[in-house]
Amino acid sequence: MVRQEFLTAIKAGQEGRELSREEILLLLSSTDEEENQLLFSEADRVRQNAVGDEVHLRAIVEFSNYCVQNCLYCGLRRDNHELVRYRMSPAEIVEVAIKARTQGFQTVVLQSGEDSWFTGDRLAGVIQKIKEQADLAITLSVGERTYADYWAWKKAGADRYLLKYETTSPALFKNLRPERDLADRLKALGSLQELGYEVGSGNMVGLPGQTNEDLAADIQLFCKMDFDMIGISPFIAHPQTPLARVVNGELGKVLKVLAITRIVTKDTNLPATTATGIVQDKGRQEALLSGANVIMLNMTPSAYRKHYQIYPGKERSPLEMQAIPEMLFSLRRKIGLGKGQRIHSRPAEKPESLPPANFSLLSI
Ligand code: SF4
Repeated sequence: MVRQEFLTAIKAGQEGRELSREEILLLLSSTDEEENQLLFSEADRVRQNAVGDEVHLRAIVEFSNYCVQNCLYCGLRRDNHELVRYRMSPAEIVEVAIKARTQGFQTVVLQSGEDSWFTGDRLAGVIQKIKEQADLAITLSVGERTYADYWAWKKAGADRYLLKYETTSPALFKNLRPERDLADRLKALGSLQELGYEVGSGNMVGLPGQTNEDLAADIQLFCKMDFDMIGISPFIAHPQTPLARVVNGELGKVLKVLAITRIVTKDTNLPATTATGIVQDKGRQEALLSGANVIMLNMTPSAYRKHYQIYPGKERSPLEMQAIPEMLFSLRRKIGLGKGQRIHSRPAEKPESLPPANFSLLSI
């Protein structure tokens, strides 16, 4: 039985009215199957109206698993000495990107740990070479770097930047990313927007100690920062990390966060993340029915792929390029043409300036 207040919250999205924190919590916390199905179908309706039926494919190249950071949840953390480390050469990265273009991809995502071997200049050289040889949009996902690096890479031709904040809870962030500060990360996101990148962020669902209030704050910040892409993934415990024994995040909660994010942001590009397909078979299909419109496919050479262990099981990602047309056909969706940049369905409301140095989460 759908409650009146639940219907009112869903309608707030339809009417273009901002959802309040209480309404987001109401949508997040329902245990009623009928209400949850209504939430998912409303997100699917908003997705169709705002961004259509196209699903944009991105080729991801995980070019280095070296990382100076020590995030508690991540298999690439520097204290994981069991991990075999690798670093692709600049020439190899360019070669794989060009191969992705010949296979039909129009966006390549270059992802790595925070690896200082790839200096600003070195990575700028890779970006420049790819741009010279292939008509590809380039997304970078290489962590927190200096403003000068962001600038050099933009100048070299990079189009987009992914920098997930994982959680907006300062306490949780500090606990999970001991050497980093949430305010710095938000400031970096503001800098990237200022430099003209399409900017993506995102969170993890099911982190130890995370509450629905934390997730509601994450969603409100997605809206406030007006991100072009938002990745929402379940937490998956990695056996070689301090969180090895923590229970994985639930797909159902991930789908709710995804659906509400679609309803409030409308036209943002939302991937059906690889991790959703790891926690549950057909998780990515479920995500595509709950507001998602992007899929990332792994182009990392197989010799390296098994070592890019942010979380376990990733290298066995069940979705391959050959399976995409049939899968999308079964969902009445189609492969996106073009580079799949964000198409604003309403006037862009970019933040006017960088978040100030003392950016406060209390203002969300
Ligand atoms: S989450 Fe990113 S920054 Fe943290 S350890 Fe993993 S790769 Fe490094």
